[in-house]
Amino acid sequence: CGIIGYVGSDGSDATAPDAIDVLLDGLSTLEYRGYDSAGVALANGELDVYKAEGELESLTSTLPTGSLRDPAVGIGHTRWSTHGPPTDTNAHPHTDADERVAIVHNGIIENYRTLRDELEADGVTFESETDTEVVPHLIASYLGSGDGDDRMGERDRGDRERAFRRAIDRLEGSYAIAAVFEGDETVYATRKESPLVLGLEGDSSGEAPERASGYFLASDVPAFIEHTDRVVYLEDEEFVRLDSSGWEVSDSDGNALEKAVQTVDWDA
Ligand code: GLU
Repeated sequence: CGIIGYVGSDGSDATAPDAIDVLLDGLSTLEYRGYDSAGVALANGELDVYKAEGELESLTSTLPTGSLRDPAVGIGHTRWSTHGPPTDTNAHPHTDADERVAIVHNGIIENYRTLRDELEADGVTFESETDTEVVPHLIASYLGSGDGDDRMGERDRGDRERAFRRAIDRLEGSYAIAAVFEGDETVYATRKESPLVLGLEGDSSGEAPERASGYFLASDVPAFIEHTDRVVYLEDEEFVRLDSSGWEVSDSDGNALEKAVQTVDWDA
């Protein structure tokens, strides 16, 4: 029922907050929307996924103490279950079997049964009873193998974004979806009939696309208002890509869009 995403400026900035703190704070400000479980995925090379049924305290008690790596990129979710009861397994994020991609979702995938049957016929094993879990499996089914020699990662990044878009293209229903991938410090997201707003922290000229010292993604402004009041509202079927070098919003055909950056007046 609530989504938060964060990309810090880069790992070397000692003043940047830890992604896990930004995500947990964001989720706690989204508690008013109601939820029955919560989870986070941190992306820095491998994906680290933590999730638990119940209050945010249940999630925090699953986090390793002291040994948590400190990536600057992650996504978080509070779940209000529609398909599958509130359990640890049904909590988001959901991943594919190889943990190449982790996603969080608000809304309902109306055609999940058809997609699930199709994926299961292809040999995919499902862990949860959610409608959401078809999404990471679909994305993974569209990912290339990667050749391992792509040091700059540009080709692999293009492949991930294409796989994300192809999977979204298969969905019917309502969604705000954010995804992170193994080996990529980028957050990919899109929405349809479910809210998603971008927060831009730091100095900037106000021209898009632009640099900022941190990027946020959330279902609602309060999730990041303590960090920034500069926002970009996403419209239905728009896609956004956030990484430490910038942000870009594009339409469903991949054309970059000029988006207005607004300053919100919010009593935090
Ligand atoms: N339909 C999804 C589920 O039941 C997402 C629910 C939500 O918006 O939190 O897991």
